[in-house]
Amino acid sequence: RARKRFGQNFLHDANIIQRIVSAINPAAGQHIVEIGPGQAALTTPLVESGARVDAIELDRDLAAWLSSHFASASNFRLHQSDVLKFDLSTLSEEPRSLRIVGNLPYNISTPCIFHLLSYAPLIDDMLFMLQLEVVQRLAAVSGDPQYGRLGIMAQYHCQVDHLFDVPPGAFRPAPKVTSAIVRLRPLRDRIHVARDEALFQRVVRDAFSQRRKTLRNVLKPLIKETGATELPVDLSLRPENLSLADYTGLSNAFYEARKNTQE
Ligand code: SAM
Repeated sequence: RARKRFGQNFLHDANIIQRIVSAINPAAGQHIVEIGPGQAALTTPLVESGARVDAIELDRDLAAWLSSHFASASNFRLHQSDVLKFDLSTLSEEPRSLRIVGNLPYNISTPCIFHLLSYAPLIDDMLFMLQLEVVQRLAAVSGDPQYGRLGIMAQYHCQVDHLFDVPPGAFRPAPKVTSAIVRLRPLRDRIHVARDEALFQRVVRDAFSQRRKTLRNVLKPLIKETGATELPVDLSLRPENLSLADYTGLSNAFYEARKNTQE
């Protein structure tokens, strides 16, 4: 039986499982964190690869089953925990040491991605199954209908690749929507750097708080607070017209203005 409140849709299509595992390409010596192992459709091949696997599962019954199922695997560890509260730095503090994978519970996929992005420096890459619509938002650029805060924040930290789609029939129970596999790879060399990341987050959040308004309108509080007089973008545009580079540029202009008024 699947628990709806835990977003449980279990993969059962062997061909799809194989494609996902090939895309992950797990190997001994790697440190993989699996989110929501469920009935172990992906966990089994991950553990068999010899990689060290830390699995985070919230459902107490599944967690108990997983612990006993993998009791003899010395490279497997189960954490019965909510991923949204899980501190990844307890697993490793070494830069780029973790690979994160999972068929995420769709009811928490966006907060889960934001939570994981806060650990970007520890992460080598992430491979997720998500609703296709969420993958489209992650990969969207200015001009795409799904463009918004999620895509901008993901692309600020990571290279985003939409790999392939997965039909509802690959799961039990079948979800209502099509799913997709996405890879997020934290960037090693950034071209667009925000001098104050919290300020950058605020600019993007404020900008998309009311999509239909012009930037002049939605950014009014920030303009007032920082005393910015000259900004590098046309304020008669709407939030969806600006690129990631425009947003880092805008946030750095606010940063400078704030610094100047504080001096
Ligand atoms: N990986 C399995 C598969 O592919 O068949 C299960 C995927 S199912 C879509 C999502 C899994 O995440 C379920 O096992 C569910 O119990 C677990 N889960 C739900 N909310 C969670 C949370 N907040 N933290 C950790 N695991 C969670």
